[in-house]
Amino acid sequence: LAEKLQNTFAKLKGKGKLSEKDVKDAMREVKLALLEADVNFKVVKDFVNKVKERAVGQEVMESLTPGQHVIKIVNEELTDLMGSVQSKISFSSKPPTIIMLVGLQGAGKTTTGGKLGGLFKKQGKRPLLVACDVYRPAAIKQLQVVGEKLDIPVFSMGDKENPVNIAKAGISHAVKNNNDLVIIDTAGRLHIDEGLMDELKNIKSEVKPHEILLVVDSMTGQDAVNVAQSFNEALGIDGVVLTKLDGDTRGGAALSVRAVTNKPIKFIGMGEKLDDLEPFYPDRIASRILGMGDVLSLIEKAEQAIDIKKAKELEEKIKKQEFDFEDFLTQMEQIKKLGPLNKIIEMIPGISGAKELKNIDFDDKEIVRIQAIIQSMTKKERKDPSILNASRRRRIAKGSGTTVQEVNRLVKQFEQTRKMMKQFADLEKSMKKGGKFK
Ligand code: GDP
Ligand code: MG
Repeated sequence: LAEKLQNTFAKLKGKGKLSEKDVKDAMREVKLALLEADVNFKVVKDFVNKVKERAVGQEVMESLTPGQHVIKIVNEELTDLMGSVQSKISFSSKPPTIIMLVGLQGAGKTTTGGKLGGLFKKQGKRPLLVACDVYRPAAIKQLQVVGEKLDIPVFSMGDKENPVNIAKAGISHAVKNNNDLVIIDTAGRLHIDEGLMDELKNIKSEVKPHEILLVVDSMTGQDAVNVAQSFNEALGIDGVVLTKLDGDTRGGAALSVRAVTNKPIKFIGMGEKLDDLEPFYPDRIASRILGMGDVLSLIEKAEQAIDIKKAKELEEKIKKQEFDFEDFLTQMEQIKKLGPLNKIIEMIPGISGAKELKNIDFDDKEIVRIQAIIQSMTKKERKDPSILNASRRRRIAKGSGTTVQEVNRLVKQFEQTRKMMKQFADLEKSMKKGGKFK
């Protein structure tokens, strides 16, 4: 497949904007890749249509072929669809926090229960495992073994008691014994059935769990959609744990489940051992599902190259003292993408040693305001801030929804920055002249 893709890309080479045909050709291959990863066919169809719309007409990034650019967009959309940030468990301010695990038989609930317990125990929680699977032979024993291995207490009442009562008694037990986290291991069935759903609904309404996590076997492929949909409709799940990703599956179920439930995938199971649980990173799964490692690393390199090129251009401008508000704005946008500002300032070439700059206090809201102010300036004003008289400043303040004081402050800050950059460039020049610095 990789080869086929390369061929498609090669054919598309050398066009400025993505045409409908470029996108269609590349998306045919993407569609195959997704189906090969066992993403549900309906999910694939919707996804492909959505990306097609977004991709047509986009400018192809320098050093990428149109086909590669389409893959870049696909990868971004995949990551986006699966939730852009990694999700966590939200702990109740009033302990115990109750996590209820649900899913089909064999999905990995009991194992995952142990894994979660172990994970949070390491983080200082005092978990209690509650054995509510009274149907599967030896299910209680299985949980007890898990608990023993992890040195986590297990609450059970045998297999004659009603699971709802066990869950309730488990919570009381936790309260009495100062357990601040209760993990309820429930029964599964081979297929969705109403008896099971009713039981789970009853447990839910009696114990009111803070998190209902659906455990899904990543090998279930096409079926994952139905499973996720049924459980979500009946119970309203809060998140998903995708197990058995250590196998050779590409993990298409992740996309299917996310697409139909719109609930975050919180953890992935990476093996049978009790510490084989990892947080879910959408970008990693996206590239795994897409299965185009080569193309993706190429894209990554191209993106890095662009950043370096921009940084070099900026450095030149600073040296020639042509740094203006336009550059300031570009810089802001770059910075917003990159994260903590103080760190970034240190990375700007040419000024990395300017201590004063590190003390300028920006926060994210500040960046948004600064952007608004600069965007309300005319091109001419951005190039030459010296023409910013009082009436221009009033107009800018009005246009950006800020105050004249804020505009003044920004202009002053900008001038200081520029002065500092100039000093720094001069210093560097004189040192170079003196031969001390090469
Ligand atoms: P339950 O019926 O949902 O409680 O599922 P279990 O926790 O009993 O797990 C069923 C089987 O899947 C067991 O053999 C587990 O060892 C195995 N299993 C669970 N999670 C994983 C995983 O992430 N990777 C692998 N390879 N096996 C797993
Ligand atoms: Mg079980």
